Amino acid sequence: MPYPKVTINHEKYRQNLERMTGILKKHGLDMMVVTKVFRADPHLIEIINNLGVPYIADSRVENLRTIKTDARKVLLRLPSIHEAREVVKEADISLNSEMVTIRALNDAAASMGKSHKVILMVDIGDLREGIYYKGDVSEQAKQIEALSHVELHGIGTNITCYGGVLPTPATIEKLDGAVRSVETAIGRELAMVSGGNSSHLAFLENAHPQSFTNLRIGEALALGRETAYGAVLEGFHDDVFMLEADIIELKEKPSYPEGAIGMNAFGKRPSFEDLGTRRRAILAIGKQDVDQEELRPLDEGVTLIGSSSDHIIADVTDSFESYQVGDVLRFKLTYGSVLSLMTSPYVVKSHV
Ligand SMILES: *Cc1c(COP(=O)(O)O)cnc(C)c1O
Repeated sequence: MPYPKVTINHEKYRQNLERMTGILKKHGLDMMVVTKVFRADPHLIEIINNLGVPYIADSRVENLRTIKTDARKVLLRLPSIHEAREVVKEADISLNSEMVTIRALNDAAASMGKSHKVILMVDIGDLREGIYYKGDVSEQAKQIEALSHVELHGIGTNITCYGGVLPTPATIEKLDGAVRSVETAIGRELAMVSGGNSSHLAFLENAHPQSFTNLRIGEALALGRETAYGAVLEGFHDDVFMLEADIIELKEKPSYPEGAIGMNAFGKRPSFEDLGTRRRAILAIGKQDVDQEELRPLDEGVTLIGSSSDHIIADVTDSFESYQVGDVLRFKLTYGSVLSLMTSPYVVKSHV
């Protein structure tokens, strides 16, 4: 099956990467390129390698294992205590917030004769991972300092993720405070203060002095968007990844189902608006691959009206194209759709 197909434009990704490197350099920051949204695709890894980016970061050990690079590998998701050995083996650095896990990493590293770097995560209000900034951050930092095979590389934070909290000066000041207290407690400067994600970009122009030395960036490179307000970043490509899906049925049908209505294929009670007879296309792609609401048709006359496991239904009545069975509809993508399409084994990945 040649479809459904995600096309991945190497040159556009390379240009996004190059532009981002330049912007961050101007602000004195280095970058961790985050690869989870495209499952650490080896072609894109090669582009990252060619630009000499210092860190490649992913949330899954399985992805880190496949990455061939001279850059330092970073595990983004807090390690599971059950995978301490794999983490030490596959990652040079990991983000952490639990002392018991950090001790397990230390034991694993000791038994393997290796050293492992950790970044201690501090939560400044977004309420995903990290030690709450009013808590015992410097106490934990001192405990890490005392370990033999784990090294405290820096402090990190994650915002605009769970809680949608923005990197405003007031919020960033909470991190700066934690950095100062940790540096005082351990009596040395930290090698890294890592911020991110792509939401940070909208705030870089703020003249506010910050302790960050590094940002972890994924979405802005893959989708050309900052994630605080969802704005397309000037000069970035938002079409590195595109989807093509083909039409397997094309018919005029009523828009309101006939007969008594119970549950749909997903156990929900659907509701419909009667728009009269419409021209409907069924696409050979479904929920198993992507959430239809995360697809943006290039043809503005196309509306996606529903989906089941293996079908998406498009209303093409308002299109100027006279589609035929076998024709292909093209879509721009969002973070959610790139993520699921790149993970679906049913979707062809085509490199251009
Ligand atoms: C995914 C992730 C990022 C990158 O986020 P983007 O919005 O893709 O830039 C940064 N940090 C952590 C901890 C992450 O899990």
